[in-house]
Amino acid sequence: VKSNLPEVVTLARAQKALPTRHQFGHKGTFGHVLVAGGSKPYIGAPLHSAESAFMTGAGLVTLLVPEDIYTAVASQNKNALLRTLPSEDGHFISTGMEDLPFEELDVLAVGPGLGRFTGGQEFLQRLMEGLGGQPLVIDADGLYHIKGQLGRVSEYAGEVILTPHPGEMAMLLGKEVSEVEADRLGIAHEFVQKYGVNLILKGHRTVIATPDALLVNQNGNDSLAKGGSGDVLTGIIASFLGQGASPLEAMTAAVHLHATAGESAAIRLSHYSVTPEDVLAESRYIMKEWE
Ligand code: AMP
Ligand code: MG
Repeated sequence: VKSNLPEVVTLARAQKALPTRHQFGHKGTFGHVLVAGGSKPYIGAPLHSAESAFMTGAGLVTLLVPEDIYTAVASQNKNALLRTLPSEDGHFISTGMEDLPFEELDVLAVGPGLGRFTGGQEFLQRLMEGLGGQPLVIDADGLYHIKGQLGRVSEYAGEVILTPHPGEMAMLLGKEVSEVEADRLGIAHEFVQKYGVNLILKGHRTVIATPDALLVNQNGNDSLAKGGSGDVLTGIIASFLGQGASPLEAMTAAVHLHATAGESAAIRLSHYSVTPEDVLAESRYIMKEWE
């Protein structure tokens, strides 16, 4: 793969990458997604991811949040199973993790609304130790907490997908955002080669990179530039992984679906008004066209 020769994500390619639905499948067939995140300032983020996983086909979704924010999360949740871990000041403290139902999960997405806290690095480490190689999506402040342990991420037994926006990518690399933006393809390509992971470098013209592939998604617009937008994408990726898509398929289908939904929602609601929930709602109509 040459970093100066990316392939373009076409509609046909995205559509083909959607996981196949089995008519006689049951909720166990379509994957159990665990979303781990949330903290006092970020109640909505993990809810967005969990709801997005559910609405795009996951059989079961468990939402794991700090105990302190359980009531607030529960009041807005209908579709996810809820679990908590001990917390302090509304964030996790990395204890009680040995009781998590790791063996029941098909995929884990960690980071939405997680926040930054002492012990976050250990939290990520324990999740990786508990899992048995299921695909692991790391987003938002999950990325912050793995910064010091990218070597460990490389050694994880399963597929890892990192989903940084340019600011998070710059943080991971210790570079300026302007440096990342000046060479999005080259930076994504180099990163996946170095760490053997899968990467989505978000923003206008999202880059999708695996050790063997480099793609650019060309649609999407400013209606997606709003807090919570990335949380929806993370949920969709996890959902597709749980339904059996490979990392490349899940990233391709999810990024293009999310961008198409943003464009479509903006046509009806205006570029100003689209919310992450609107993007998710619109995704369902787009999936109807694609299936
Ligand atoms: P996050 O910053 O984590 O909330 O993620 C933002 C999401 O919106 C990512 O999927 C971005 O690719 C997408 N996005 C934000 N701004 C734009 C834009 N101007 N054009 C296309 N996609 C965008
Ligand atoms: Mg984000």
